[in-house]
Amino acid sequence: MSSNISKLDFLLTHEEQGGVAFKNVIRKREIISLLDLTEESTIPEIAQSLNISVPTTTAIVTELLEDGIIEDCGKIDSIAGRPASHYGLVSEACYFIGMDVRDTYINIGLLDFKKNLTLSELEIPFHLENTAESLEQLIVILQKFINHPQVGNKTILSICISLTGRINIDNGYSYSFFHFDEEPLAKHIENRIGIKVFLENDSRAMAYGEFHKGVVKNEKNVLFVNIDYGLGLGILIDGKVYYGKSGFSGEFGHIPLFSNEMICHCGKKGCLETEASGRALLRMFGEAVKSGSVTGIVSASSELNTVTVHDIIKGAQQEDVLSIELISKIGYHLGRGLAVLVNLLNPELIILGGALTNTGDYLYLTTKIALNKYSLSLVNSDSKLSISKLKEKAGIVGAALIARNRILSFY
Ligand SMILES: [Zn+2]
Repeated sequence: MSSNISKLDFLLTHEEQGGVAFKNVIRKREIISLLDLTEESTIPEIAQSLNISVPTTTAIVTELLEDGIIEDCGKIDSIAGRPASHYGLVSEACYFIGMDVRDTYINIGLLDFKKNLTLSELEIPFHLENTAESLEQLIVILQKFINHPQVGNKTILSICISLTGRINIDNGYSYSFFHFDEEPLAKHIENRIGIKVFLENDSRAMAYGEFHKGVVKNEKNVLFVNIDYGLGLGILIDGKVYYGKSGFSGEFGHIPLFSNEMICHCGKKGCLETEASGRALLRMFGEAVKSGSVTGIVSASSELNTVTVHDIIKGAQQEDVLSIELISKIGYHLGRGLAVLVNLLNPELIILGGALTNTGDYLYLTTKIALNKYSLSLVNSDSKLSISKLKEKAGIVGAALIARNRILSFY
């Protein structure tokens, strides 16, 4: 890794300290935050916005310039009439990694200081299981990416791993996967890799990506639904991600909406996820084939155990009628669940994300029909239903942004 890390040390220490040196650190952080927001500012603009004297601002800007964290973007005419230099962040000053862990693969990407995704590797084969071997496999994939020729010489400040299930972002514990000992999972991986690690719930990381770099424009009250193997939710209220007390908000899939006497993988029965998820889609597909429905995906029920959610999505894209019917049914159940949320939260925008949205209109249209049918029309007329813009990259963009913004205290 590059030796630049020592110059960026001040971004990694968050302890309260006194004295002039610490005041300097706070001001450096404030200038970085301001430039993140404005993209480019002059010294008088920085001094005025942060209420610091021009000589002090000049001294700190000079230090940041020397350390290669900010750059002179050129002179333009200032209000006073004299050309003034504009300063902005340096894209290559430091980088952040976002790792999106799915059931059967991992997506991983590199984000630069100015929030550009500069490198991504999608669908690296992986098998998510709650075992030490699966965790080891995850660490090996992460280490391999860090050693990648296009990554190895760069300064990586932090990593965020997005994982399904219950995550506490403050203490770095994952309660659903890899909770083998007292040490938080984030700390365990950090000790192995040697770079600061954060954890985030997968649906919330995707939502975060979509809120900041996706379909969201000025909307402040947004729901992001992640319909994949499971069913998750990210919530944006008044422009902020909503976590709940311990970070367990958004367990949308486990709303007990059905009297189907079906045991959910969470242990309860009748959860929305038992009728509206990739897992439900697989079960319905198996039941349909066994009761005689024909499909182009398998020719006999003996082949069912090799079928994946991905196969059925591909089936729908290739006009397989059974796949289309089942995905439409899933959409309808999802819309019914969403009606509960719309009545409760009155969102401006609902974004559908996750693998099942790759079926286009088949999922979208039935979701919309059920949403309109089951929610109050006065309330749902306020809510726009959209498909994710970042699609497969939502998770890595979101996770890498979280890694960046938590280090820069923008989170
Ligand atoms: Zn459940």
